[in-house]
Amino acid sequence: VKVSIISCTPDPEQVCARAASICYKSEPSIKVLKHCLEAGHLSIFEHASITFLIEGISRVTSHQLVRHRIGWSYSQVSQRYTGCSREDVIIPPELTEHKKDLDNVFDIAYKTYQKLLNQGAKKEDARYVLPNAATTDIVATANLRALLNYFPLRLCKRAQWEIRDMSYLMLDHCKRLAPNVFENVGPGCKYCIDKCTETKEP
Ligand SMILES: Cc1cc2nc3c(=O)[nH]c(=O)nc-3n(C[C@H](O)[C@H](O)[C@H](O)COP(=O)(O)OP(=O)(O)OC[C@H]3O[C@@H](n4cnc5c(N)ncnc54)[C@H](O)[C@@H]3O)c2cc1C
Repeated sequence: VKVSIISCTPDPEQVCARAASICYKSEPSIKVLKHCLEAGHLSIFEHASITFLIEGISRVTSHQLVRHRIGWSYSQVSQRYTGCSREDVIIPPELTEHKKDLDNVFDIAYKTYQKLLNQGAKKEDARYVLPNAATTDIVATANLRALLNYFPLRLCKRAQWEIRDMSYLMLDHCKRLAPNVFENVGPGCKYCIDKCTETKEP
């Protein structure tokens, strides 16, 4: 997986601080920004957004990503209009020892896909034989409030390894672009260990 930044609101923290300063008739500052974070006055963080280009994730993970509806926009490679190739699949690390079995299934799926296309099927129909392991690229734009909701859920140990790995790459960018907003962001379990049913580990 590769995560890069296509675009970001210029000076995102300043934009949010300016919005906060309107509420309190104060000067925009990092102090007021942090106050809003702590107080849960989160709407000010909707005024800045980040556009990510995410390449080479499985369609398992893109499906999990697009469940995040509020404050997000997506554009994904179309399997209706573009072809898929056998090499572009993800094998979960935990299944490495079963790689041979997976490869056999993928060989059959992609051979059938190609055969259907050769026989005149449309890509949108032939793709029904393809696995969830098929990779995809997606552009995702989210405002900072949406990202504050997203990271605790998807960095959590209960989330799956692939979306977690991807989310850590996204968070690295966020910490660079808006360090004061994202400095304490991490897995939700960091803050709610007593509620976690999966693990007692911090
Ligand atoms: C570990 C894990 C396991 C999961 N397992 C499953 C699963 O088995 N099956 C499954 O279907 N999904 C599953 N999900 C997806 C999950 O249920 C959410 O759809 C997903 O995490 C998006 O979160 P969200 O709704 O907070 O995000 P968003 O859609 O971005 O919403 C943001 C916030 O807006 C508010 N909101 C949004 N829509 C509504 C609404 N209609 N009504 C009221 N408030 C709303 C909520 O406060 C919400 O937190 C899982 C997620 C995680 C992290």
